[in-house]
Amino acid sequence: MRSLHTEHDLAPFHAGRFIPTMGALHQGHEALIHAAAADNARTFPRAPRAPIIVSIFVNPTQFNDPADLTHYPRTLAADLAICQAAGADAVFIPEPAAIYPLTDPIPVPALPRVATAPALEDAFRPGHFAGVCQVVQRLFDLVRPAHAYFGEKDWQQLQVILAMAAARPGSPAIVPVPTIREPDGLALSSRNRFIPPADRTRALAIAQALRAAQEHADPHAAERAMRDTLQRASLQIDYAVIRDAQTLEALDTPRRAAAPNSASAARPARALIAARLSPIRLIDNAPWPRTP
Ligand code: AMP
Repeated sequence: MRSLHTEHDLAPFHAGRFIPTMGALHQGHEALIHAAAADNARTFPRAPRAPIIVSIFVNPTQFNDPADLTHYPRTLAADLAICQAAGADAVFIPEPAAIYPLTDPIPVPALPRVATAPALEDAFRPGHFAGVCQVVQRLFDLVRPAHAYFGEKDWQQLQVILAMAAARPGSPAIVPVPTIREPDGLALSSRNRFIPPADRTRALAIAQALRAAQEHADPHAAERAMRDTLQRASLQIDYAVIRDAQTLEALDTPRRAAAPNSASAARPARALIAARLSPIRLIDNAPWPRTP
C-alpha cells in the first residue's frame, strides 16, 4: 500500500475507487473499503483491477465548531493498518496546503437544495455542507475516481453528494454503503469514543427510537414515538423526523394518506435523528416505514 501526499503522487491512481474519510477509522469506514474491493472483484474477476484509494484529511472548512475540530480524533498509524488490512492500494494523506493552496482559492460548488432546505444538519451546523461540498469536489478533482463510496450513516451528506455529483458532468458514480452498527444497535462513529461508559446505554435510545418509529404507519405518530424514546433517555433532541428519503423535505402527508398509490406515496421515506448526549452530538437514520 502506497502513502500519497501530492496531486503528482495521485497520477497513477486515477479512475479508481475512492473512499474519502477524516481518519479515526473504524469498521464503518472498513465497510466502505470492503464494498470497493467487492465491486472490483465483481467487475474485474481477473487483475488488473481499479485501484482503491482512501483519503484521510480532517477538513477544517466543514467544522462549524472550532472546539470540535481541535478535539477531532487523529489516529494515523492505526488508520493505515486498517486501510492495508481492508485492501486499499493507496492512502492519500494531504497537508492542508495540498487541498487549499494559499495562492489559489478553492471554490465552494453551488449547493443543492437538499444541502440548504431541509432544516436538519444544514440548520444545526451552519456552513457544514459548504465545507463538505468544497472538500469533496476538490478531492474528486485531485483523485479523479470513477467511483466514490459514502456511508448511509450520514444520510443528508449522502443525498447532498449524490445531488452535487449529478449536477456536474464527469463526476464519479456515487456508491452508498449501509450503516455498520455495534451488536446493540449503536451506529459506529468516530465520536463514540467520547461517550462516557455510564452514558453508553442512553446513547442506545437513538437506535431504539428509529426502531420505535418503524412500528407506526403514520409519520406524526412515528415522530412522536421517536421523541418519547429520546426524552425518556434524557437526550436533547435537535431533530427526530420522518422525511422524503431523497429531498429530505416534509412528507406530503394528506396525499400519502388519501392516495396510497400516488407518486408521493411510492417515494421512499427516512427516519432521521440528531440528538445530544451532552457534549456529544450523535446522528443516525433508518428506512421508514419498516422495510419487509
Ligand atoms: P468520516 O470519516 O466521519 O468523514 O466518514 C467517512 C465516510 O465513512 C463517510 O462516507 C461516512 O458516511 C462513512 N461512515 C461513517 N460511519 C459509518 C458507519 N457506521 N457505517 C457506514 N459508513 C460510515
